[in-house]
Amino acid sequence: MIIDCHGHYTTAPAALEVWRKRQIAALGDPARAPKPTELVIGDDEIRDSLEKAQLRMQRERGTDLTIFSPRASFMAHHIGNEATSREWSRICNDLVHRVCQLYPDNFIGVCQLPQSPGVRPENCIPELERCVEELGFVGCNLNPDPSGGHWKEPPLTDRWWYPLYEKMVELDVPAMVHVSSSCNPVFHATGAHYINADTTAFMQFLTGDLFRDFPTLKFIIPHGGGAVPYHWGRYKGIAQDLKRPPLKELVLGNVFFDTCVYHYPGVDLLTRVVPIDNILFASEMVGAVRGIDPDSGHHYDDTRRYVDLVQTLSATDRHKIFEGNARRVFARLGGRSAREVNAAGRGA
Ligand SMILES: [Zn+2]
Repeated sequence: MIIDCHGHYTTAPAALEVWRKRQIAALGDPARAPKPTELVIGDDEIRDSLEKAQLRMQRERGTDLTIFSPRASFMAHHIGNEATSREWSRICNDLVHRVCQLYPDNFIGVCQLPQSPGVRPENCIPELERCVEELGFVGCNLNPDPSGGHWKEPPLTDRWWYPLYEKMVELDVPAMVHVSSSCNPVFHATGAHYINADTTAFMQFLTGDLFRDFPTLKFIIPHGGGAVPYHWGRYKGIAQDLKRPPLKELVLGNVFFDTCVYHYPGVDLLTRVVPIDNILFASEMVGAVRGIDPDSGHHYDDTRRYVDLVQTLSATDRHKIFEGNARRVFARLGGRSAREVNAAGRGA
């Protein structure tokens, strides 16, 4: 079985974006704000949006299950205030829940959190609880920079974040460290802001003592860990210079990397540098890079091909990357089938 641990509902029906635009247009005049019930999307529209995209690609590429969350660039936590974010997150999470109920073998849910710049992360706890306990979701996407490219929040290792981590540990859910759109023109969202954030988060984990305080807390750093695997010697050396414990002891019990690296040499390097136990298969399809590589004739985000091509992996290694590690990190999935996980979320 192949579990893709990183997919977003990027193909959601257009009505979702229309509703969001109305919400944003009404920020200065709440009387004009659309009600959540004004967003009407039929089951057939959801099916249509997936059958020709994510589901077709699952079939074509031979992957089985996608751990699915709302579109990351649309989270845009910097827009509006806490209430704006709460309402928007709930709508996006509910839509992912409907996807999981329509296709219980193909998708399980991960939630967007109602973060807002400067607002203490405690505000995310009710939505996280709702998504996990009522909708059957197995994780969350945590944005280390809800300001959208201006980096106003404390590092992820700061006690500012601890109440949310306490809830994550209690619910036994990991977070994918995932920024959203950039409102800083310096940073292109998917080309710079995302990769910067991945690298930044790792460096924060390296310098902080978060995992001494939360030994079972788990994070996935997406996009192959940003620049980290390529610069592993730098991080290893910085930890050593700072008299920190070795990386294995310091972060590798808690921090995992996905395979959303869109060429073979990158995935090959990832598997040589990062321990196999810390790598989770992912493609982020349909995501930031949708084209076909003219050199290979294949989609850049068909990451299964790159893992298949790595000759140094044993059968056990492959099983860990494709399935075993995801079941360990997403503990609420564990040894269960996706259908069982989704059945638990049917009571919503
Ligand atoms: Zn993503």
